[in-house]
Amino acid sequence: MPDLQLEPIPRPRRLPSLRGQLSLVLGGLALAILGLVGGYLGSVATDELYTAQVAAVRATAQSAAELLASQLRDREREIELLSVAPHLTAGALDSALVRDALERRQALHDEFAWLGVATPDGAVQQASGGMLVGRSVAQREWFIAGRERIYVGDVHEAKLLATMLPAQPNGEPTRFIDFAAPIRDAEGRLRGVVGAHAHWRWVTSMVESVTRRQQPGSGIDALIIDRQGRVLYPEAMKLAQVNGEDVLPKLANGRFEGELAFGGKTYLTSEAPLQARTNAELGWRIIARQPLEQALRPVRDLKRELVLLGVLAAGLLTLAALLLARRISRPVEQLARIAERVESERRMPDFPSEPGAQELAKLSTAMQSMARSLLSTERELQRANATLEAQVQQRTAELQAANAALEHLATRDPLTGLHNRRSLDARLAEAQALDRRYGQNGRVHGLLLIDVDHFKRINDQFGHPAGDAVLRQLATMLLASVRVTDVVARFGGEEFAVLLPGLAGPLEAVMAAEKVRGAVAAAVFPEVGHITVSLGVSLASPDDVDAHPLITRADAALYEAKRGGRNAVVLKAADNAAA
Ligand code: GH3
Ligand code: MG
Ligand code: MG
Repeated sequence: MPDLQLEPIPRPRRLPSLRGQLSLVLGGLALAILGLVGGYLGSVATDELYTAQVAAVRATAQSAAELLASQLRDREREIELLSVAPHLTAGALDSALVRDALERRQALHDEFAWLGVATPDGAVQQASGGMLVGRSVAQREWFIAGRERIYVGDVHEAKLLATMLPAQPNGEPTRFIDFAAPIRDAEGRLRGVVGAHAHWRWVTSMVESVTRRQQPGSGIDALIIDRQGRVLYPEAMKLAQVNGEDVLPKLANGRFEGELAFGGKTYLTSEAPLQARTNAELGWRIIARQPLEQALRPVRDLKRELVLLGVLAAGLLTLAALLLARRISRPVEQLARIAERVESERRMPDFPSEPGAQELAKLSTAMQSMARSLLSTERELQRANATLEAQVQQRTAELQAANAALEHLATRDPLTGLHNRRSLDARLAEAQALDRRYGQNGRVHGLLLIDVDHFKRINDQFGHPAGDAVLRQLATMLLASVRVTDVVARFGGEEFAVLLPGLAGPLEAVMAAEKVRGAVAAAVFPEVGHITVSLGVSLASPDDVDAHPLITRADAALYEAKRGGRNAVVLKAADNAAA
């Protein structure tokens, strides 16, 4: 199987947390929505409040104008009625009855400072409190006009009466507005003029009563303006100037409404004329005004409240978003930890029972099943691995055994189990190499070549299987009579060879050969009886290039042993060796 090369998982970049992102987005969204809604509501409220304030100012102007007009009309009617009273249209104008009538009127309307009647040439005949009786009013405007028609006159400072009446509580000069009407007899001839002075304070208090009715702190006040555009009331504004400009701007149509600057300060302003038949002659107007700054104060308050509310709501929403984000992110983090544990501990951990949301539950379930299949796959792999390892060990053992068997087959003789000729050759080469390396201590290896005497006859006499049995018994005997370090081989046919390593000298080899010869001669071979062997002995020489000369010498020695009569040992030394 090819090695599965997996890319290493890159470490995630440092990213903002889900919690932070959610909170930021939701909080920002909440702030944006609240900002939009708040801004919209604020602007709608601003418009409505502005309209409402304008209406309040307009209402003030109109109420004041209406009140003033109706009150002036009433007083005018009063004087008119007085002028047609029977005591005045007939009888003496200086009678006590006339005075009574005048004083009753004054008692009824305390705004009247003075009521009196004068003759057509201006001599005062009778008056409330008897004031000015006998004096002339021929030059007074009210008198001149009153001779002709019903008259309502502009405010003016008291002249003749100034010294007779009590002073004004605020120290202001006494001011009046005048009413007058002609007195005519039954034929319509002018008998005199009835006139009245009403306190200016009566007029101004009416305006004040209207402005007082406005919301406290609204800052609304009202001005009375005369035909020429002069301020009659309030007193402080009469002819006042700011920075060289008239306090009151020029207003054209008498029905102005809107924002207007009075001496550099902007006001919501509404103008209303006094509408009445005779009042038209008077030509007064009421201007009600409210400082813009004060008019818009509720708007500012509302806006501030909206901002506060918005911030509070955004805060709450951000908090809610934070909680929500935590609710989402916590199980995700938990799942991440669980995944790490699956990797490090290799066992099934506990998954959260309450993942908090359907999607998270799905993720948790998917991870659970993934972990389960991963772990079970891994376990199966481990099991398979273990089985495979056992199999490999078994196969290796079998192979080793087969190799050993093969080696045995390659190096052993099948009949006797001894080394075969090939194996002997390898051992001889080995021995020669060892002698060359360790030759200094004088030890050499030697070779015995052993040939069964007259073996042909044994075969002929007892059969081939009996011959084989002899060969097998001989092999056993050879193994028993030499050292364990010696190598016993079947050299071929009925010939054997024994490699004798580490010999001290030729005697040792000869003794070994003799031992073999003697043992064979003494032994009994069950089917055959006694047999003998001949042995050729040779020792390795440093001159030998390979094993061949050694074998040749042993073979020559064996030939000599045969020729010498068999059942004998012959040593054949190397040519250079001492005999
Ligand atoms: P000598 O060596 O004493 O001169 O006489 P010999 O009879 O042993 O002579 P030779 O070496 O010529 O004969 C060897 C005989 O050994 C010939 C052959 O039939 C027999 N032989 C060889 N290999 C085997 C074997 O594996 N089994 C049996 N039974 N006989 C074998
Ligand atoms: Mg032979
Ligand atoms: Mg033989």
